[in-house]
Amino acid sequence: MDSSLFRKIPQVNDLALKPHIALLEGAWSRDEMVDALRAALDEVREGLRKGTALPDFDSPAFAAHIEALMAATRQPSLRRIINATGIVIHTNLGRSPLAPAALEAIQETAAGYTNIEMTLATGQRGSRYDHVRDLICELTGAEDAIMVNNCAAAVTLALATFAKDKEVVVSRGELIEIGGSFRIPDIVAQNGATLREVGTTNKTHLSDYQNAITDGTAVLLKTHTSNYRIVGFTACPERTALAKLANENQLVLLEDLGSGTLIDLTAYGIGDEPTVQHCIASGVHLVTFSGDKLLGGPQCGIMAGKKELVAKLRKNPLLRAMRIDKLSLAALEATLRLYKTPFEPEEDIPTLRMLTATPEELEETAQDLAAALNALPEVTATTAQTMSEAGGGSLPAHQLASYCVRLTVGTLTPDALMARLRQGGTPIIARISKGDVILDVRTLLPDDVSDLPGLIGALEST
Ligand SMILES: *Cc1c(COP(=O)(O)O)cnc(C)c1O
Repeated sequence: MDSSLFRKIPQVNDLALKPHIALLEGAWSRDEMVDALRAALDEVREGLRKGTALPDFDSPAFAAHIEALMAATRQPSLRRIINATGIVIHTNLGRSPLAPAALEAIQETAAGYTNIEMTLATGQRGSRYDHVRDLICELTGAEDAIMVNNCAAAVTLALATFAKDKEVVVSRGELIEIGGSFRIPDIVAQNGATLREVGTTNKTHLSDYQNAITDGTAVLLKTHTSNYRIVGFTACPERTALAKLANENQLVLLEDLGSGTLIDLTAYGIGDEPTVQHCIASGVHLVTFSGDKLLGGPQCGIMAGKKELVAKLRKNPLLRAMRIDKLSLAALEATLRLYKTPFEPEEDIPTLRMLTATPEELEETAQDLAAALNALPEVTATTAQTMSEAGGGSLPAHQLASYCVRLTVGTLTPDALMARLRQGGTPIIARISKGDVILDVRTLLPDDVSDLPGLIGALEST
C-alpha cells in the first residue's frame, strides 16, 4: 500500500467544487452532497487499502457515481419489485397485487375525507364495519361479518371472545404453525384458554371430539392445514357432523380457513380448498380468513358467521386494537364487488387470474419474453416448462404447470445473476431451478413483462 496516495485524496469541500460535481448542486441538497462525497471518499480509502487505483476526481464518471450514491438514498426502502418466482401469494413479496378497481378506491379514499364512521342518511355516527358487511354476507351466505387487520388478529379476537378461561378442542392433525411463530397452541394459551388436543396426527373421529367435551368446553376449533398436507390413511369428521355436535352442546364451531376462497378452484383442477360459502352452509358458526390470500384483496382478516357471535365480537374492546384501516376497507369493498356480475373474478382479480392462467397462455408469454430478451447483447433466454405454487398458505403441495424463461447473462454464475437481478433499478426476484436462473412467467404482471428486457439489458454482465 502506497501511503502517499492517501494524501492525494481531496477534502470534501474541494471535491464539491470540481466542475462536474458542482453541476449537481441544483438537483441535490447540500446535505445529500456532503453525505455522498463522504461515502465516496470512504470507498476510495477502502479501495486504496485493497490496492485499487485512485479514481479521477475530475471525471464525469466520478460525478456520475456521486449522483448514483445520492439517488440510492432517495430510493424508498419499500418499493415495487418483479415477482418472477412463480409463487403467486408470496408473503415476503406482499401477497396479492390489487385489481385496478381496488387501487382507484384506495386513491379516492386516501386523498380526502370519507364517511368511514358516519351514516350519511342521518348524519349520525356509523360503524366502519358496516360498509362491506352486506357484500360479505351476500357472497358467503353468512348472517353477519366483521373485519380486522389480518387473519391472525381474527383468530385471536375469536378465541379471546369465546374461549377465555374455557377449553378449546382441536384435532392433533390441525395444530398448525402459520409462520412467524403464530402457533395454534400458543394462541389458545395466550387468550387464557386451555387446549384439548384430540385424535391423532392422521385420524380424528367425531367420537374424539365428543369424548373431550366437558362443562368447561367453549369452542370446537377447526383449522385449515394451509402450509402442509397429511395424506394417505387419514380421517376427520364432516363439518356438518361437527356442527351438529357443537349445537347439541351449545359450543361455538370456529373454523380458521386462512386462505378463504370464494371461488371453487377445484373446478379449475386446482387443489381441494373448501369455499367460505361451503363452510358456512355446512353449519360452521364462524369462519376466519385473510383478505390478501386467495381472495386477492388487501391485507385484512374477515370473520363471517352467526349474528349473535359477530355481535359479541363487535363488543370486545380488543377489536379497537385490531381495527381495519380505511384504505384496506376501501380496497376490500372494491375487490369484493368484482365477485359480482357483471365482473369475472378470475379475469378481474390479479391473484385469481395468475392462479387460473393456462399453460398455453403462459407458454406464449414465455416465448414473447424470451424473444425480447434474446435481442439483448450477452443475454441467452430459452423457454421451459416449470411448476409454480399458490403459496401463502393456500393449496399446500399443489403444483401448477407453468412456463419459464431460463436466463444467462454474460459470464455471470447463477448466484451472481440472482444478486444482480435483485439489485437492479427495479429488483427482480427470480428462482434457481436445476442449476439455472429462471423467470416463471405465471407471476409476472403485464407491466413486468414489458419492463423486463430494459431492466435486464441494464445489468452489468461481468
Ligand atoms: C395465513 C393464515 C393465517 C394468518 O393470516 P394473516 O392474514 O397472514 O394474518 C391464519 N390461519 C391460517 C390457516 C392461515 O393460512
